[in-house]
Amino acid sequence: MSFAEVIGHTKQLAILRSALSAARLHHAYLFIGPDGIGKRTAAIAVAKAIHCEENTDDFCGICVNCARISDGNHPDVRVIQPLLDKKEISIQQIREIERELSFRSFSGRHKIAVIDPATLMNLSAQNALLKTLEEPPADSVIVLIAPNSGGLLPTVRSRCVRLSFSPLGRHEVAAYLDSQTVTMCNDSKSLAAMSMGSIGLALKLKKEKLFERRRDWAKTLTSLRPGDYHSAMAAAEDLGEDRDGTLSFLGWAESWYRDVLVYQATHRSDELVNLDMLAEIERQAATINLDRLHLAMQKASSAAAGIQRNLNRRMILEDLLFTVAGEQ
Ligand SMILES: [Zn+2]
Repeated sequence: MSFAEVIGHTKQLAILRSALSAARLHHAYLFIGPDGIGKRTAAIAVAKAIHCEENTDDFCGICVNCARISDGNHPDVRVIQPLLDKKEISIQQIREIERELSFRSFSGRHKIAVIDPATLMNLSAQNALLKTLEEPPADSVIVLIAPNSGGLLPTVRSRCVRLSFSPLGRHEVAAYLDSQTVTMCNDSKSLAAMSMGSIGLALKLKKEKLFERRRDWAKTLTSLRPGDYHSAMAAAEDLGEDRDGTLSFLGWAESWYRDVLVYQATHRSDELVNLDMLAEIERQAATINLDRLHLAMQKASSAAAGIQRNLNRRMILEDLLFTVAGEQ
């Protein structure tokens, strides 16, 4: 693999490569952008380009150094994330990385530490990191990775060169899925449409079989009849079985009603998330009125917020499904 094979983010990679080849890498970067779009991949690509034995400002992906970086056991490259069963990155982890960065590099090149996601550093960890950012050890590069800058101290943010990463295009996600042969039945296009430009999300959808479960969910939503509270209650019981499943359903339900809304207004399919269910979307768009559609979207979104606050799942779902079914 080389820079040319990294999917998307051409501009960001060009900035990093030109800094690398001019020997002007900054000591700290902040990569901002949605989860699963390739921020860590970009950081690891830079680490490989620094240490690759075959190239000076690119990487081969197969030499000893590239392979060790891929395996996570190169002494000059560290990825810091929450330890197993922990929700935060601790001050001990940051102190450990500071200690390692202060040693001489094994290869005589830059040492690089990638903190992902940096927003999971607790306050004391961030304050500890701040000291390193203020007085960076020679030849060290720290890359902070985060979905947004919200959870980071302004003093930490201001000491990093910020690079914003955007979601990938649908065709880029689809091309990746095809190249990995993780998809079957030609569903890579539809998975890509649902992925919001995130390869990580596309793979998660695939793994959790959400892609298949959507068909059952669509059937449930479209088959509810006005006044049939018995079916709505049975569906609420079914959909409310586990918290994560309920949240997945509600996230999807929002995308479903958005699709119906878009289709009602435009009769175009190119922007649809549930691209492969066009016939069902068409049918639903023909039968649901605009007020009810808006209300359903609103309820799906506020229901998810309620579940996050641990309100009763079944009651929240019943409320949503009664709305969808409508009055008798
Ligand atoms: Zn290499």
